[in-house]
Amino acid sequence: MNLQRMYINGEWVNAKSGETRDIINPYNQEIIATAAEGNEADTQAAIQAARIAFDEGSWSTLPASVRGELVYSIGTLIRRDLQELAELETLDTGKTVEESRADMADIANVFFYFGGLADKDGGEVIASPIPNSESKVVREPVGVCGQITPWNYPLLQAAWKIAPALAAGNTIVIKPSEITPLTTVKVFELIEEVGIPKGVANLVLGSGVSAGAELAASRDVDLISFTGGIETGKTIMQAASHNVKKIALELGGKNPNIVFADADFETAVDQALNAVFFHAGQVCSAGSRLLVEESIHDEFVDALIERTKQIKLGNGFDENTQSGPMISADHRAKVESYVEIGKEEGAKLAVGGKRPDDPELQNGFFYLPTIFTNCTSDMRIVQEEVFGPVLTVETFQTKEEAVRLANDTIYGLAGAVWTQDLNKAEFVAVRLRMGTVWINDFHPYFAQAPWGGYKQSGIGRELGREGMAEYTEVKHIYRNK
Ligand code: NAD
Repeated sequence: MNLQRMYINGEWVNAKSGETRDIINPYNQEIIATAAEGNEADTQAAIQAARIAFDEGSWSTLPASVRGELVYSIGTLIRRDLQELAELETLDTGKTVEESRADMADIANVFFYFGGLADKDGGEVIASPIPNSESKVVREPVGVCGQITPWNYPLLQAAWKIAPALAAGNTIVIKPSEITPLTTVKVFELIEEVGIPKGVANLVLGSGVSAGAELAASRDVDLISFTGGIETGKTIMQAASHNVKKIALELGGKNPNIVFADADFETAVDQALNAVFFHAGQVCSAGSRLLVEESIHDEFVDALIERTKQIKLGNGFDENTQSGPMISADHRAKVESYVEIGKEEGAKLAVGGKRPDDPELQNGFFYLPTIFTNCTSDMRIVQEEVFGPVLTVETFQTKEEAVRLANDTIYGLAGAVWTQDLNKAEFVAVRLRMGTVWINDFHPYFAQAPWGGYKQSGIGRELGREGMAEYTEVKHIYRNK
């Protein structure tokens, strides 16, 4: 696989800038690849290829079943190359290879789902109130879609965008995070292998400012779909306003995990840890705010601390490893600064709060799983997304208080509630201002169910029928008979 080229108009091309970027393994800081560093001119070339391919119309007017079959075939090749893709993802992100394998299986399913959905919405005839007329409502592709993805789930986030956009008949230009491009490049080799026509799917590599910003600003892009941080999302919204682009944003989260005293204790403890420490906490839906009923607080926190100390950090390729490193030195420094803020604010550091002493982990960007107790919702450590292995613990006494605390942030991505009383679970679930609520579980997501945020966690939905709808325009065709 040659990362020094980008896929534009059906060809692998060098960056016009002539520049490259080293890609670093976060486990040991070794250079694992050198990637092209595209700039504005490269992105413009990709946008023009996508524009011409869309305007010329052969992809959008291809029978939806044929488009769907091609999208489905990408999933088949991902399944064929699952192990190779999983290893690339682990090299690039540090996550365990077991997690990467699970990601790749989910990603194949995303292509299967949207490939299958491509020909399922043929529009509908509606009852016209005007005599001797006919009205029908059809869905059409939006046009050229710009897509920008983050580093935490590099290929998963890309798949959530590529599969529905292509299935709906759009043409695309995608820019993955500059620090984790490996698996997206590999999937473009698969896109080429299945025979997606030239210009329909284009890949640019490079930083957000030099290669990504053009996707948001260009008047030739009809829709921008972005997953990443809230501040970048705001910048993209502003740039997109130049031509009133359609916009889909998947931003951050500060997700509550609510545990009532009647919850299954052992499962709730294990899953509270999994909720926040999975992928070293670098998950938009991480359960980073634990709200635990006061009557079980001490017992629950003691169990959490005990089990947190057992979490094995290490090389993602080692089967004993439960958690890998942070993605970069800069990101670890951000997490460390939040831990200092938490201490200054008066939260009690119960476990972690530093880098591991293990000599084998000194070359990686590791940070110990960390728990703060005695937290209150006015603290920055409770309000702001840390995006690392840091859990805050608050208490509540009533279900009403649990809901109030859970909703008390600018975010609204996901949340969970643990109780054996399903009426209580339902009471909470309907009141949480979040796009996803889990009852007695944490983290499940799948291609069939919509994903996205209330409040400042985003605009629009990915996955499910709603995710496909984002990539379509609705047209009413009226005929006077
Ligand atoms: P980021 O905002 O720094 O970068 C995301 C992408 O945007 C990268 O490809 C980057 O190159 C690009 N970018 C940066 N500046 C840009 C600009 N001015 N114009 C255009 N593109 C630009 O985010 P990150 O650090 O890569 O990812 C972490 C964030 O992503 C977290 O906040 C996390 O919550 C969020 N996230 C959300 C979801 C979700 O589903 N809601 C999923 C995964 C990650």
